[in-house]
Amino acid sequence: MDKFSSRIGRIQPSATLAMTAKAAELKRLNKPVFNLSVGEPDFFTPKNIQEAGIYAIKNGLTKYTPGGGTHELKTAIIKKLKRDNNLNYNLNEIVVSCGGKHSLYNACQALFEAGDEVIIFSPYWVSFPDFVSVTGAKPVFVRTNKNKQFEPDFQDFEKKISPSTKGVIINSPSNPTGGVWSDEAVVRTLEICKKHDMWIFSDECYEQLTYDKPFKSIANFDPNNKKIITFQSCSKTYAMTGWRIGYLAGDESLVKAISKLQGQSTSCPNSIAQYAASEALIGDQSSVAEMKNIFKMRRDKILNKITLIPNVDCVKPHGAFYVFPDFSYYLGSKTKKNEIINTTEDLSLYFLDQTGVVSVAGESFGAPNYIRFSYATSENTIENSMDLIKESLEKLIF
Ligand code: PLP
Repeated sequence: MDKFSSRIGRIQPSATLAMTAKAAELKRLNKPVFNLSVGEPDFFTPKNIQEAGIYAIKNGLTKYTPGGGTHELKTAIIKKLKRDNNLNYNLNEIVVSCGGKHSLYNACQALFEAGDEVIIFSPYWVSFPDFVSVTGAKPVFVRTNKNKQFEPDFQDFEKKISPSTKGVIINSPSNPTGGVWSDEAVVRTLEICKKHDMWIFSDECYEQLTYDKPFKSIANFDPNNKKIITFQSCSKTYAMTGWRIGYLAGDESLVKAISKLQGQSTSCPNSIAQYAASEALIGDQSSVAEMKNIFKMRRDKILNKITLIPNVDCVKPHGAFYVFPDFSYYLGSKTKKNEIINTTEDLSLYFLDQTGVVSVAGESFGAPNYIRFSYATSENTIENSMDLIKESLEKLIF
């Protein structure tokens, strides 16, 4: 077989999807599974959105659409960005894609190439480094401060900037930490980026899920900065992960370049999902608040449970639906079978083996001492899982 392109060698399989596959396999074998690895709401897509999808199917809205999205959906996005984020964009500044992931991928393809460097704050969402690497550019990692919602370590940030730095990826609220940056941290970051003429990606796919203060979109802090690109998604806000609709808003010439690229790859996002997404964005919003309230209750529940586990350090995340505790205390311990827990990957597999709890080790997020748990699952599952994890940790030998 011919060797694949070097591009393929530069990317890793998605670690979170790998854990999801593992959980599905256990379920198939009828083993008890408590899946806290998923990065998606456990709710059904709200009824009004489902019905819009059905309407689209029944009324022939099943054809190719313009490459960058329908006029109707772009108009809905503009209204939404104004209503929720106080952002003003026009039709030529929006591209709809097959999920926020696709929007981020496209923007990296349009902007970065070999010789460029892109700053990523660590812990990071698993896909960021791969989006950058696949273009030939180099991801450069900057440390963050866990006691301040994983805001940048600004000394490290300034140190990592070079003449090749072309962009930075910000993700607040964050996957995997749930951290939400303060206004001060955002302003300081934007100042540094401006000084070095960097593109600023603001991945805001969890923008509706902040629990302790209202979310402020990053472009709000510097509305005239043409290098800020806002990325949002229907996936998490409207429990629409499988519909695959995300979008970006930014500079018109970049939007044109991305639309051209998309026209030569997926042609357009799914027409039915686009119709449903318009309803999601400008139809009845009550389900958004309902889901958010449930997530907030679950966050408090999982945090209360984690507090009861000795020697596990977990800061209170202000957003998204993840907790990201530090398990470093347990590294170096031994299981009853005399296996050494060297890494949190070992620990995460030990949890799976002993308890059926599925989690994601921090290694793939650039944070080897941590494990990510998603609380986008029932309160019962959350309670049982944390009790089981506590018990399984008590069995480790030092
Ligand atoms: N960005 C972050 C930080 C995410 O966690 C995810 C999904 O897990 C996405 C983007 C992409 O979501 P989607 O492609 O479903 O819009």
